[in-house]
Parts: sequence; C-alpha cells; structure tokens
Amino acid sequence: MIDSKLYLVGIRKDTGEYEDQADSCQLCKKMIINAGIKEVIIKDKKGYRTIDVKDWIEKDDLLEGKITY
Ligand SMILES: [Zn+2]
Repeated sequence: MIDSKLYLVGIRKDTGEYEDQADSCQLCKKMIINAGIKEVIIKDKKGYRTIDVKDWIEKDDLLEGKITY
C-alpha cells in the first residue's frame, strides 16, 4: 500500500445524505499512516478534497489535544 490513495466518503446512515465535513477518526489516521498510504481523497457535502498524509504525520491532532471523533 506504499504511496497509494484511499478514498473516503462520508454518508450519514440516518438520512443517506453526505456528511457536512467527513474526516478520518484518529485510530484510522494511525492505520493509514502505518500502511504507507500517501493521499486520502475525501468526498462530503462540500465536495472533494485531498489530504496529504504527510500533513497528519507532521501535525498530529493528539499532540495538540484535539479530539476529532
Ligand atoms: Zn476510523
């Protein structure tokens, strides 16, 4: 999986609509980093955005005390 892309789609189970702002949880971020995935492409209500996984490594939410999910 080194340098691969992961596609993440945020859809609400209760309404079937896209999430306002989908994101990976912290546990999945760690697994994505450890798998060597390079980019995560996220689709939600706002459209598509591409995350460079290197940013998650350099800017760790846990170290800043942020809880995302
Ligand atoms: Zn997760």
